[in-house]
Amino acid sequence: MEGLIDLHTHSHYSDGTLPPAEVVALAAARGVAVLALTDHDTTAGLEEAQQACRTAGISLVAGVEVTAGWRGQEIHIVGLGIEPSSSALQTHLAHLLRLRRERVVAIGEKLQRSRKLSGMDPVSGVLASTAVPTRTHVARAIAQAGLAKTVQDAFDKFLGRGCPGYVPQEWPALPLAIDAIRSAGGHAVLAHPHRYRLSSGALRNLCAEFRDAGGSALEVSLPGLSPNDATRLASLARQHALAGTAGSDFHEPGLPWRPLGRFAKLAEGIEPLLPRLRIMGNE
Ligand code: AMP
Ligand code: MN
Ligand code: MN
Ligand code: MN
Repeated sequence: MEGLIDLHTHSHYSDGTLPPAEVVALAAARGVAVLALTDHDTTAGLEEAQQACRTAGISLVAGVEVTAGWRGQEIHIVGLGIEPSSSALQTHLAHLLRLRRERVVAIGEKLQRSRKLSGMDPVSGVLASTAVPTRTHVARAIAQAGLAKTVQDAFDKFLGRGCPGYVPQEWPALPLAIDAIRSAGGHAVLAHPHRYRLSSGALRNLCAEFRDAGGSALEVSLPGLSPNDATRLASLARQHALAGTAGSDFHEPGLPWRPLGRFAKLAEGIEPLLPRLRIMGNE
C-alpha cells in the first residue's frame, strides 16, 4: 500500500493534546508517509516533529494554521512548506499570539462577571500552561471543573456566539496571512472551507479573493466530509484554478471523528499541492 498523506494536524503546542513525537508515532502506526504539523499560530512544535519523523522514516512538511479575518468572520489559512525561521512569518505569529492572550483575558473577565460560573477562574491556568491559548483550552477547563458536561457543552453554554463568555475578535485580514506564509516560502491553503457557514455566493467570493491574494489551494478532503460538500469543494477548486490538499485536522486520539490519516483521496481533476511543497530538512 502506498503511504497516506495528511497535511493538517495539531499537537499540544496549540490545542491538540499530544506532543509532536506522539502525533508522529500515531501517524507512523496508521501508515502515513507524508505528514504536516499545522498548529494554530505557532511553529514551536516543528523541531520536535522533525526529529521524530527522521526516526520514523516519515517526510515532514513544515506547517502552521494561521488565524485570519474575512468580512468579520474568522477563517483559517494553513501554510505549508514554510521556512519556520522567516522573520516576517514569526512577526505575524507573535502578533496573533498577543491577540489570543488578550482575548482569553477578556473572556475570563466576562465569565467572572457572569454568575453562571460561580466564581471559578477558567483562564489563569490556560494562560499559564500554553503559549497559544484557544477557546478550546478554556472549554476544556470549564468541563474539567464540572461546570459543563463536555467541551461542546462548554461552548454551547459559555463560549459560543451569544453566550456570557463570547468575545468577538478581529483578526488580521486574509491577505496579511497569505503574505506572511508566502514570505516564508510557503503555500497558503484555505482550511475547511465548508465550515464557515457562508452562503454559496460568499464562499465563491472568498475563494476568488483568496486566489487573487496569492493563495495556492483549497482543503478539499477531510474526515467526515459529506458527499455533497466534497462535490462543492472540488468544483470550487476547479472553478478558481486552485490546487487541493487533504488532511485530518487531528487534535486528539479521543475524538474518533477526526482520525489521523483517514479521509478520501483528492477528487478527479484536482491538482495535488504536495509536489510543490518542500520537505523539512531536505533543502
Ligand atoms: P479560537 O481559535 O480560540 O477561536 O478557538 C477555535 C476553536 O474552538 C476551533 O478550532 C474549534 O475547534 C473550536 N470551536 C469554535 N466554536 C465552537 C463551537 N461552537 N463548538 C465547539 N467547538 C468550537
Ligand atoms: Mn483547533
Ligand atoms: Mn481550523
Ligand atoms: Mn486545524
